[in-house]
Amino acid sequence: MNWEKNVRRVEPYVAGEQPKAEGVIKLNTNECPYPPAPGVKRIAESLNCDKLRLYPDMNAEKLVNALADYYHVSPAQVFVGVGSDDVLAMAFLTFFNGGEPILFPDITYSFYDVWAELFRIPYKTCALDENFCIRKEDYLTPNGGIIIPNPNAPTGVLEDTALFEEILAANPDSVVIVDEAYVDFGGRSMVPYVEQYDNLMVVQTFSKSRAMAGMRIGFAIANEKLIGYLRDVKFSFNSYTMNMPAIDMGTAAVLEDAYFKEIVGKIIKTREWTKERLQRLGFSFADSQSNFLFVTHERVPAEEIFLALKKNNIYVRYWKKPRIDNHLRITIGTDEQMETLVAFLEDYLNGGKELR
Ligand code: PMP
Repeated sequence: MNWEKNVRRVEPYVAGEQPKAEGVIKLNTNECPYPPAPGVKRIAESLNCDKLRLYPDMNAEKLVNALADYYHVSPAQVFVGVGSDDVLAMAFLTFFNGGEPILFPDITYSFYDVWAELFRIPYKTCALDENFCIRKEDYLTPNGGIIIPNPNAPTGVLEDTALFEEILAANPDSVVIVDEAYVDFGGRSMVPYVEQYDNLMVVQTFSKSRAMAGMRIGFAIANEKLIGYLRDVKFSFNSYTMNMPAIDMGTAAVLEDAYFKEIVGKIIKTREWTKERLQRLGFSFADSQSNFLFVTHERVPAEEIFLALKKNNIYVRYWKKPRIDNHLRITIGTDEQMETLVAFLEDYLNGGKELR
């Protein structure tokens, strides 16, 4: 089988499980527990299927303009794609093209090393400190680019914008990507800094705070030059990435700001309640400003709790990986879902019994 020697072999990214069974409490992939904005549903219901004969607007102008308005930037500073995974992959391909290794944290979104391997980009991971915080010095060394999520995943830890300013200023020859998938849940965005730093690219998603993971919408904001280079690569790869309904529904979601703020507010409130209850049960965690908590228990191994929860139809995320194999990542769901989780844990940890 000689053709196999020419195959581009990769070890793919492993996503969280999407259980088929009905009635499970799904707290394992950081989805939003609430529906998207009512305007999104209206578009879905009035979808004109005749129009699907035609190719979508390859520039997704409607959505780009809505995002530009919302974030007070020009449309030439906005790039949209099929989820932030698509946007990030394009950014890796476009900007991480030098000889020096790119840098990212050792504990972080596990797609980064997969893209680096796929695109043959040299990379070096920088160890977070014992509190899961970024060690700034690690990013002040020669590099071919930097990517850091803020808040970080799966830790939930939020870094100050001042840290990114220092990293940006110290690396004028590298593109620095801040992956803000979770910033709406209590972080301060770097978007206002894109004018000041021409090497900054901010990436966000509709999958969490805008409750549209299934629609696959993500975007980047940066200066026009960076966005121009990103578009050149995208249009050399696949022009029609975003489909017509996604463009229309994404636009509707951006226009309904009150709804967006309402569901984000609810998730933050539930998160704070959950923090308090889990602490009482002997869990500890770095303070999260995202829509998930990354917890460890004082006594019971994470893997055991993970399996017990799963047996009881509550799905959370567990990685058997160095440094994080005694942690669970728990997405914040509705109040009712979190109450069920806490009630189960109370019983399990204090009585060794299982509910159902
Ligand atoms: N960045 C981070 C840090 C994430 O956790 C995720 C969610 N898996 C993504 C990007 C990608 O999200 P999406 O492609 O759904 O926009």
